[in-house]
Amino acid sequence: MEFRCLVSKRVVRRLKILRQLRTLTGIAVIALANCVAATQDVAFSRQKKSETAIEVVKDKASLTGSISAEPQQNITGGQRTAIAYGGRLLGDGQSARLMVELDGRVDIQSFYMDNPPRLVIDMSKTAFNFQEPDNLKPRGLVGEVRYGTMARGQSRIVISLVNPVKIIGQQLRQTEQGRYKFTLDFEKTETVEFSNQIAKQGDNIGNANKVAVKGDRLLRAAKREGRMTIVLDPGHGGIDSGAKGRHGSVEKDITLEIAQKLEKAITSAGPFDVYLTRRGDHFLSLKERVKIATRKQADLFISIHADTLRQKQVRGAAVYTLSRKASDEFARKLANSENRADLTAGLANDDVHDKIVDILADLAARETKKFSVQFARQIVDVFRDNIGLIKNPHRNAAFEVLKDPIVPSVLLELGFLSNLEDEKLLESEKWREKLTYHLTEAVGLFFAGRIQ
Ligand SMILES: [Zn+2]
Repeated sequence: MEFRCLVSKRVVRRLKILRQLRTLTGIAVIALANCVAATQDVAFSRQKKSETAIEVVKDKASLTGSISAEPQQNITGGQRTAIAYGGRLLGDGQSARLMVELDGRVDIQSFYMDNPPRLVIDMSKTAFNFQEPDNLKPRGLVGEVRYGTMARGQSRIVISLVNPVKIIGQQLRQTEQGRYKFTLDFEKTETVEFSNQIAKQGDNIGNANKVAVKGDRLLRAAKREGRMTIVLDPGHGGIDSGAKGRHGSVEKDITLEIAQKLEKAITSAGPFDVYLTRRGDHFLSLKERVKIATRKQADLFISIHADTLRQKQVRGAAVYTLSRKASDEFARKLANSENRADLTAGLANDDVHDKIVDILADLAARETKKFSVQFARQIVDVFRDNIGLIKNPHRNAAFEVLKDPIVPSVLLELGFLSNLEDEKLLESEKWREKLTYHLTEAVGLFFAGRIQ
């Protein structure tokens, strides 16, 4: 189909620019996430004195150069993922040792990073599955140890430092069992010396600085390169059934069935990874729905509904974007009834969360809102001649599920269960096909258009 080609070519070509944009708007939240990650490991018990003695292994290789172990003999064919199953950090305020046990050969490159001071260990494809992660709790010179996937075929360990350090030895050796053990020793040094090392490594390992500017956003779900993430949110669920039609249709079932159709259609329409906030008939708070989108680093969030109105003659689809001020009384009432979903399930409002959301929203929402509005307009454009719309189909309201400051979000009312004809359409397989087709088209055009 014509628009499919358009979508994949243009999206892939412009994706880098888009990522940069998103990185800018995402800085606030990443900083917050790092804070949370950092505080999680604050409490740790000191290891026994006997373990802190460090046996320094001098290595012939350049201290900040790369090390490759001898190829493991029983591995044939392409490079497989090594599993890091053992990890341990030893040391005190003067010196430290990191040990990592692996079940296969890896290429390793260690280097320094500044602001704040860190040691970074890049490894070829490694899955981190430490049996006792507590053994890597920070101590002495080390403020934090993080690890994760950086990009396809590249993994990284980041050691945040309390003091500048100098690597005094590193080694990767094969054990008798055919496994591998990596050790890295470092000791406290002066700030000047640390800066000198950073200057020197630029010459030695060439691309270290290139790697460095990528940052170390670890422990966040790794997104697949060249792909966009879309989170679909089937409204209501479980104890909260949502609206009920005059012929017995139930909103929570309609939204889920349509979301599942959409998932299939959007997935096959371009470089899109689609997730649903729920796949079964269970309750999810509004905040949980938003959290899923944030966790997936969604590029687009679509909440799907089909509500009732007192005015039974009103029918057609409508798209809502977030605004503190509702565009009209009608939009305000609808937002109030949607937001009540949490109260139905007995969840109280969380003022603190709302305040954080508000502060972040102020920082980042301008860009996000622009995208949300663009997508809403795209839907209205595509629907205009194909799917029935209400009067003024793009409206503003303070919906809780639209409050993520990073993810462009819309709430889509597919139609109104209070209207007999709309109810019939919402249950009709043919109409659902049509809706799915046109909404998928709007998604494709949104990603093609917003990055020009
Ligand atoms: Zn609803």
